[in-house]
Amino acid sequence: MGFDFLGLSEDLLSVVEKSGYTTPTPIQAKAIPGILQGRDILGIAQTGTGKTASFTLPMIDILSQGRARARMPRSLILEPTRELATQVAESFEKYGEKSKLSMALLIGGVAFKDQEQKLDRGVDVLIATPGRLMDHMSRGKVMLNGVEILVVDEADRMLDMGFIPDVEKICKAMPQKIQSLFFSATMPTEVKRLTDQFLKDPREIEV
Ligand code: AMP
Repeated sequence: MGFDFLGLSEDLLSVVEKSGYTTPTPIQAKAIPGILQGRDILGIAQTGTGKTASFTLPMIDILSQGRARARMPRSLILEPTRELATQVAESFEKYGEKSKLSMALLIGGVAFKDQEQKLDRGVDVLIATPGRLMDHMSRGKVMLNGVEILVVDEADRMLDMGFIPDVEKICKAMPQKIQSLFFSATMPTEVKRLTDQFLKDPREIEV
């Protein structure tokens, strides 16, 4: 089966084709339709399974249907490390090349000034590590009350790195009515507790 039956727009299908992907990976085949229907997702998947496209492609389609260039971020993707956040940002730029969505990458090791200037101009999507996002929140530079879609990626690595309390605080700062997508390679108790707390009737996908 190709990508045609997953519900993605023509724009996204042409981006997928340009990327050289002919067949969706199992996580993509299972997650994309559910995300497009507005479902919460709990994906048990490792890196290298095509996980990034499984959430970025439908997210781009959903956000493209709403107002572009809103003042407040409409989506937040949390990643445990700068490297992963940077990779996801690169994927987002590639898959989102036809959309008018703007993105800010909020990671440590980079001056606050550049990130703040970008935030001041207004962005649709934030891709962040928890620490740097919390720094921006405490400086009053990030408003999360316009977020519609939250992605917590590599939740078990968040746990290994001691980020679960931060992730929990960030989840609590979200509006009540959001779509949440959690991904983890394994399901330790602490991660299970977090997903039980924040996911609403999630579609569980294991690949
Ligand atoms: P990820 O698991 O998201 O880090 O993706 C791993 C690699 O698989 C990346 O280099 C993607 O470009 C590639 N990829 C993602 N989806 C597909 C697909 N459907 N067909 C072939 N390659 C893919």
